[in-house]
Amino acid sequence: MSDNDRLMAAIAPIVGLRAAAPRLTDGRASLILDVTGLGEKSRAKMEEEVRAALLALPEVNEVRIGMTSEKRGRKLIAVGSGKGGVGKSTVAANLAIALKRSGLSVGIVDADIYGPSIPRLMHAEGSRPMAEEQKLIPVDTDFGVPILSMGQLVKPGQAIAWRGPMAASALGQLVDARWDDVDLLIVDLPPGTGDVQMSMIQKWKPAGAVIVSTPQDLALIDAARAVDLFKQSTVPLVGLVENMAGYQCPHCGEVSDPFGIGGAQAAASAMGMDFLGRVPLDIAIRTASDEGTPPAASDDAAGAPFHAIAAKVAAWLERSGSASVTG
Ligand code: ADP
Repeated sequence: MSDNDRLMAAIAPIVGLRAAAPRLTDGRASLILDVTGLGEKSRAKMEEEVRAALLALPEVNEVRIGMTSEKRGRKLIAVGSGKGGVGKSTVAANLAIALKRSGLSVGIVDADIYGPSIPRLMHAEGSRPMAEEQKLIPVDTDFGVPILSMGQLVKPGQAIAWRGPMAASALGQLVDARWDDVDLLIVDLPPGTGDVQMSMIQKWKPAGAVIVSTPQDLALIDAARAVDLFKQSTVPLVGLVENMAGYQCPHCGEVSDPFGIGGAQAAASAMGMDFLGRVPLDIAIRTASDEGTPPAASDDAAGAPFHAIAAKVAAWLERSGSASVTG
């Protein structure tokens, strides 16, 4: 067996196909590790194990490891709405969890400066991100979906009065954080079409935008304005989610439609985008959200609309070549 083969044999169980260019010169073993896609911790662990395995060989007394990594394209999906209170954050949180359940590695950026509700929705209220080398470390949640929120950057209960450059720089801190293994960031935007949306679009170029609207809101052109913002900036529209669509009776489960049915679908196609699905106005969604147990994390009926919407978003990502499935 050659020197190279002996080195490779010693580390193969640890590195699989990630090692290249092994060399042994005067007791010094060197090699290159391709650590593409690994987070900081996994990299450090792999490096340590490789070092130990090589030093265990009698002919090795020094180890040098070089690491290369292809820069992975992390994709952003922006979730926007024409106005507040339409359930944008609820949809963003549940969409992220449903996508995670389908095998994607997902995180959430809560950029809603007016009402950052993602920590509460994700059962991480009061959490604070740590920072390392000037970068924020996203906070893990019970659902395997790490989060960073504008609300975590200020004292609890403090109003966020950020404008223009400050809001943009806060957004930068959240997006340009240590997302490590996360392939897809769901960004919960503030409602409307302000500074945060502009800087999101200009600086961070989302792969696509999901628009959330209620049936009433659609009639009121607010949603159309949000749609226009993305269209003008050439951010592809993934589609429209109709939230609070029809009322689900908590007693019999029957869904009634005070605002009619089919309007949202028609409005979506009139605005030139796909219809991703409807989520009923359902008290179970509100109570679950308040308790930090998002319906999409369960197999209950209340989660089903979110799973269906996530499947469409995942299909869109795959079509646009943006998905990267883990596990
Ligand atoms: P936004 O982010 O658009 O301001 P939120 O997601 O914070 O809206 O939702 C506003 C309120 O409506 C919250 O109390 C939430 O629990 C509730 N809500 C959202 N979607 C639904 C739904 N489909 N059924 C019942 N309540 C909902």
